[in-house]
Amino acid sequence: MLKEIIDNFYLDNNRESYPQKRFYVTDAGKCPRSVFFKFKQAPCRDLEPRILRLFDHGNYIHELIIKALSGQKVLRGDEVNIPANNLVAGRADALIQVAGEDYVVDIKSINSMGFRVLTKPSLEYIYQIQLYLHFFQINQGVLLYVNKDTQDLKEFLIDYDEELCHRLLDDLELLGQKIAANRVPVRSGDWPSNGQCRYCPYKEVCSMVGADEVSWDEFKERVAKHEESIKNGESKKKLLS
Ligand code: SF4
Repeated sequence: MLKEIIDNFYLDNNRESYPQKRFYVTDAGKCPRSVFFKFKQAPCRDLEPRILRLFDHGNYIHELIIKALSGQKVLRGDEVNIPANNLVAGRADALIQVAGEDYVVDIKSINSMGFRVLTKPSLEYIYQIQLYLHFFQINQGVLLYVNKDTQDLKEFLIDYDEELCHRLLDDLELLGQKIAANRVPVRSGDWPSNGQCRYCPYKEVCSMVGADEVSWDEFKERVAKHEESIKNGESKKKLLS
């Protein structure tokens, strides 16, 4: 009984009722096609309530770290919005100052198995912290991984890379043009073995679209016609549920 109530709480709170209107820093490094689907509110699988609870648990880990940074008087701000701009919004976990140097801190929680083999930060997280560094005009960042099972910590210092940031922002610009033109970007080259594909909520629709860039409107029309033919008993195979 309680499990259903709690699961429903997480499912209800996770359903987005408005389409995404702008990019977030966390979109950097994500599969462009999945970001496109998010903007278009394409049919997707609900994340399991268990996974949503894990995300929520990550928020408590953030609070613990922020408490320690604040207690040690190195914290300059937490959950800090990046300066307003036309392309992307985002909030850095923390800005700190240590020995007169400013840093952006991004906190990631990870399970024991991942933590044990962690020797370098994931590319996706590097891209995100790079954009924070870019917008805050700070030269160094720290990606702090917290083992959520043992509370052990690993940290990685990241130097600002201006060229990389311009590339990431150009990629977002390009994706913005595809979103405006209703063009579904090409599928990731290593689909479906890519780590992002494994947990992608748009797996099903992505596989139906195929590998190439296509018109989103034409695709939806094709699906609607197919659904109509199912209703009329012409085909048993359903394209999109
Ligand atoms: S399944 Fe993979 S290629 Fe397709 S949208 Fe998701 S992450 Fe991108």
